Amino acid sequence: MTSPSFPVVTRFAPSPTGRLHVGNIRTALHSWMLARRDGGRFVLRIDDTDAERSEERYVDSIRADLAWLGLVPDQEVRQSARFALYQARFDALVDAGRIYPAYESAQELDLKRKVLLGRGLPPVYDRAALRLTAAERAALESDRVRPHWRFKLDHDSPIEWDDLVRGPQRFDPATMSDPVVRRADGSWLYMLPSAIDDADLGITHVVRGEDHVSNTALQLQMFAAMGAPAPAFAHAALLTGSEGKLSKRLGSLGVDHFREGGIEPAAVLSLLTRIGTSQPVEPLVDPAPLIEALDFAHFGRAPARFDEAELAQVSARIVHQLPFDAVADRLPEGMDAAAWAAVRPNLAAVAEAADWWGVIEGPIDPPTAAEDGAYLAQAATAARAIDWAGDPWHALTARLKAESGRKGKPLFLPLRRALTGRDHGPDMAALLPLIGRDRALARLDAAADSNRSG
Ligand code: GLU
Repeated sequence: MTSPSFPVVTRFAPSPTGRLHVGNIRTALHSWMLARRDGGRFVLRIDDTDAERSEERYVDSIRADLAWLGLVPDQEVRQSARFALYQARFDALVDAGRIYPAYESAQELDLKRKVLLGRGLPPVYDRAALRLTAAERAALESDRVRPHWRFKLDHDSPIEWDDLVRGPQRFDPATMSDPVVRRADGSWLYMLPSAIDDADLGITHVVRGEDHVSNTALQLQMFAAMGAPAPAFAHAALLTGSEGKLSKRLGSLGVDHFREGGIEPAAVLSLLTRIGTSQPVEPLVDPAPLIEALDFAHFGRAPARFDEAELAQVSARIVHQLPFDAVADRLPEGMDAAAWAAVRPNLAAVAEAADWWGVIEGPIDPPTAAEDGAYLAQAATAARAIDWAGDPWHALTARLKAESGRKGKPLFLPLRRALTGRDHGPDMAALLPLIGRDRALARLDAAADSNRSG
């Protein structure tokens, strides 16, 4: 699917005013996947034009969160380093009559809106600033009224595009206010710098949430005004919480929360790639098949439902597939591939492997079920007689079955308790060779002693 003549360039453009949350992680993911699918480039654009609200610690956390997820950008740009470019494009658009100064105060604009709404009309800016005479403008400026700046929409034809998710879109520019692109203090609003950057960085596909659909209509006119080709757009439906409503909690769920909960990054990728699409959620350690199968045509228009419990399940299913090499640096000292293979099917999170390593190495709490004392003494004797080189668990239980006449739970459970101190856990056939003969004999002896009745 690679098209070298038209390399795909996508971008993820967070504002560093907070941590990434599950909604923008999903946006980042889809942008990254599209670039990877088509052999293109993925750009991280830090939208830090707002000096007051942007914080360096959030820039760092955005980078760290993307790194944890494995979404490595091919390029990073910061809007705060690009003001000269914005100024140049702005000047050209002012010269071309596509950006104009407006002098209304916030209160005046608010009043205009209220009047229109009161008459049942849409609160569209009336372009009064365009009708000022040169003398009126000069008078305002001599009163030291500093203008803010609006982009003049072209009302001549509808704004149309074929959205990769939503299909054909159409907006009537006459129903939209000329957007303010720059404040009176010279600071930039989001809209124009974003379009300038998308044009300048050669972005071919903008993937973002559907809350940006009307911005896209405005930005398409900005691309046209700059004589730049417009990128393709994919506006994904928003996320909702598991309860089906737009949930505040989603805004607080991010990489820290996932990591603390023992969630694997591959689970976040597996789930967020597919929720809200007609493709099934598949727990995959390697995202390559997800990338290969990415197709916006499968994205639904209804909100995507994000369920933390589902994420935990997907993560557990990923843990069950993780090879030793992928987790070795997260396992306790000494825990080897055989131990990992033995405990892996029982884990919801990799960190739980340490509990089972503690069970293997001991010490464990001996069980206290008095009625099994004689049976456990019999087990201790049998365990001394069997061959430990092959499959000691089956050798031990076969022998005890014949000697004691027990079967099923009464045969197995006292042994599991004596050998692990627990009622449940990994397959004993895998665990017992790891516990080993010496520890197993000591545990059976201890259990037999503490359970001797009478
Ligand atoms: N900084 C904007 C946001 O976080 C970027 C939107 C876009 O993708 O253009 O909403």
